[in-house]
Amino acid sequence: MKTGASRKELDAVVEKAKSCDLDVQLNMGTDKVVVAILGSTTGQLDTGIFAVLPGVESVTRIMKQYKLASREFKPGGSRFTCGDVEIGGERVVVMAGPCAVESETQLLEAARSVKKAGASVLRGGAYKPRTSPFSFQGLQKSGLELLAKVKREVNMPIVTEVVEPKNVKLVADYADLLQIGSRNMQNYALLSVAGRSNRPVVLKRGFSCTITEWLTAADYLLAEGNDVVLCERGIRTFEDSVRFSLDISSIPVLKKFSHLPVIVDPSHAAGHYSLVPAIAKAAIAAGADGLLIEVHPNPKEALVDGLQSLSPSDFTRLMSELKVVAKAVGRYI
Ligand code: PEP
Ligand code: MN
Repeated sequence: MKTGASRKELDAVVEKAKSCDLDVQLNMGTDKVVVAILGSTTGQLDTGIFAVLPGVESVTRIMKQYKLASREFKPGGSRFTCGDVEIGGERVVVMAGPCAVESETQLLEAARSVKKAGASVLRGGAYKPRTSPFSFQGLQKSGLELLAKVKREVNMPIVTEVVEPKNVKLVADYADLLQIGSRNMQNYALLSVAGRSNRPVVLKRGFSCTITEWLTAADYLLAEGNDVVLCERGIRTFEDSVRFSLDISSIPVLKKFSHLPVIVDPSHAAGHYSLVPAIAKAAIAAGADGLLIEVHPNPKEALVDGLQSLSPSDFTRLMSELKVVAKAVGRYI
């Protein structure tokens, strides 16, 4: 309460809390009164209902807003399987493939090479959320069909992006894992529909979002009963020598506050193929459960994100280096 707040103002705050079925504890300081509002649902409460009352100086949230994504909700940590690939276990899961599905030859070549190098999930975007409406938007439905065809050839689970609620059903018919991209992390309508898809979701971090906003967005998917894996892919900072700044500290922070598996996308963070290996190794050393890496059979010809895509030979070399890092931190690939 503000210094000098009246008894009547204090009583009104207490009344408001009681009307919400919450308990209160008053802390009478020499100058100020601090009202502790107690209850298991305070994390989900709109603090504004107290902040607007006369005599209130400020309201500080103690409980986190997210609930289902929190570590308290599931202290042991989540793991789930996708095909025969376990996510969140001892094994570091590497998902790799082109940014966008471009053709059958491109996808098949990428799939064969990443599988040979030890990746266990194939990535490839059929629907691309592009900054400009004039850029290549992906092969869409025919891209999904190519993913299904190549999946039959190489026998790898598929992760592919869904960008709008009306396509969730269609994409889920082809994908083993749905990707929700950075630009859609807070598209709550999409999250709710994807939550009901029966396909685990790779939820990328919005590049201007806090960890709390990210975990609270994950609650939308978890509330529908779905499995979620979080993907750190870099955030926007003042630094302009990389495409985004990879927030390496989000990995231990997420591990501390959430039970969800965490993977890292070094490709979109780096924006340049030469930076991808160091970031990928750092991610595993910091405790990531997996990686999502862009690999193109011929990066120079890529329709999207060629500069940050690894060639099959660079990816193969990186995988052998990653094995060493994984072993050093008690994991394997
Ligand atoms: C992608 O994975 O190709 C992509 C568009 O990523 P992001 O949503 O992280 O930008
Ligand atoms: Mn990309």
